[in-house]
Amino acid sequence: MTEVQNYIEGRWLPSTLSNTELCNPSTGELLGHLAAGTEEEVAEAVRAASAAFPGWAATPAPDRIQFLFRFKQLLEDHFEEIARLVIIENGKTLGEAKGELRRGIENVEVACGIPILMQGYSLDDIARGIDEFMTRESLGVVGIITPFNFPVMIPLWFLPYAIACGNTVVIKPSERVPFSMLRVMKLLEETGLPAGVVNLVNGGKPVVDALLDHPLVRAISFVGSTPVAKYIYSRGSANGKRVQCQGGAKNHVVVLPDADVDTTTRIIADSAFGCAGQRCLAVSVTLTVGKARDWFTDSISTAAASLRVGDGLNPETQMGPVITSASRDRVRSLIEKGVQDGAKPVVDGRQLQVKGHDQGNFLGASILDGVPATSELADTEIFGPVLSLVHLNTVEEAIELIARSPYGNAASIFTSSGAAARQFRKSVSTGNVGINIGVAAPMAYFPFSGWKSSFFGVMHAQGRDAIEFYTDKKVTIERWPKNWSRQF
Ligand code: NAD
Repeated sequence: MTEVQNYIEGRWLPSTLSNTELCNPSTGELLGHLAAGTEEEVAEAVRAASAAFPGWAATPAPDRIQFLFRFKQLLEDHFEEIARLVIIENGKTLGEAKGELRRGIENVEVACGIPILMQGYSLDDIARGIDEFMTRESLGVVGIITPFNFPVMIPLWFLPYAIACGNTVVIKPSERVPFSMLRVMKLLEETGLPAGVVNLVNGGKPVVDALLDHPLVRAISFVGSTPVAKYIYSRGSANGKRVQCQGGAKNHVVVLPDADVDTTTRIIADSAFGCAGQRCLAVSVTLTVGKARDWFTDSISTAAASLRVGDGLNPETQMGPVITSASRDRVRSLIEKGVQDGAKPVVDGRQLQVKGHDQGNFLGASILDGVPATSELADTEIFGPVLSLVHLNTVEEAIELIARSPYGNAASIFTSSGAAARQFRKSVSTGNVGINIGVAAPMAYFPFSGWKSSFFGVMHAQGRDAIEFYTDKKVTIERWPKNWSRQF
């Protein structure tokens, strides 16, 4: 690892660093220092992005995407290397890191379709001899702010579309995982992208605030926790910017008695404990209906207790650590709170140790049975490997319980009944829905949805929503009378 650097106007510059250490979550090994980030660094990056904008916006779309084709190939060529960086700084397993990278690259591929995706539409003769058409124009400078849990994929939910649409970018990755994006930026540089089109500034709140307040930043794309999403949406909008903010989650999965035992258990275990529960689409609460209670409680407990926890660099590992020791302590105390409120810890991973990794932030998988609806845990995003079980009698009760959640990111159902699945899909109050799917993550050509406190804005990340978000519509109405030229 190298020290964290900024990339501004095609130059690598030292980032302002704090004393806080960044450590490998599996080993505690020192990786570097947390970037402090300053308003001046942001001002410099926005100036560079603003200067590059007219030339980039005037570059024909088919020429702009040639850089993305090269970028896609470089990401493929360095696939293993970047996946390894994600494991080292974030703690994922090899399969998870590769999965994240694959889903990120998909967005680069989709953005290569911009010459079609960015087209407007027209109608001749809206009145006799008068035609009307809509064209999409680039916005200007876009700010992108991302979370720690997908160090590469989430920046790629935005960056390829933003530049394919002719905008220039200032990106601020999570200060907790700066190294993977640093490498990705070096690859982007290798494509020969003109200086200033994409700039990277590292840091935390001061960098975010400077982006939110800078008059030349036209749009903000954000992913992170709900309180920060709300804050960024309010402050950015108050400053007249276009803002999209994807927030936190508390996802439910409903298990009906007719679901297939083995498949359901395997998929829900992966959803709840994959990425150590640090996915915004992780299942946090399973709602069993009727007789599913007994078999599901047994099978998921067996699956949770048998997970191999360890360093993601070990190919045997099935679950890695959480991001920091503070996160681990927070998860432990939330489990404690749930138990005090009356839940039964049928599997308790709080004290799990990984041999030879005393400095790692490991937790075992935990299952809490019967979390009361009144418990703080019922509506709190835990963001760790903890699954709560709640037992109900009907699908309708499950749909109502989900409707009461302040979040609306995702919900899934496991059943072999098409009628129950359809009822669920039509009635459930979340933006992403899974039918016999545990992590309902939309592909790059669909919007990554999210409702209620899981999303603030109108247009989501990815796909056609991204094109809407990153372009301004211009509507022209024109008339060309036949004999006018003689009058001049
Ligand atoms: P976070 O909100 O702490 O940080 C996200 C970004 O906001 C970072 O870049 C950080 O520097 C910045 N930030 C943090 N505090 C800030 C403040 N007070 N003012 C201004 N900026 C601030 O989130 P995280 O812990 O990095 O990521 C986990 C969260 O992200 C979870 O809540 C998870 O559900 C959510 N998430 C949501 C989605 C989605 O699509 N809905 C996807 C991934 C993660």
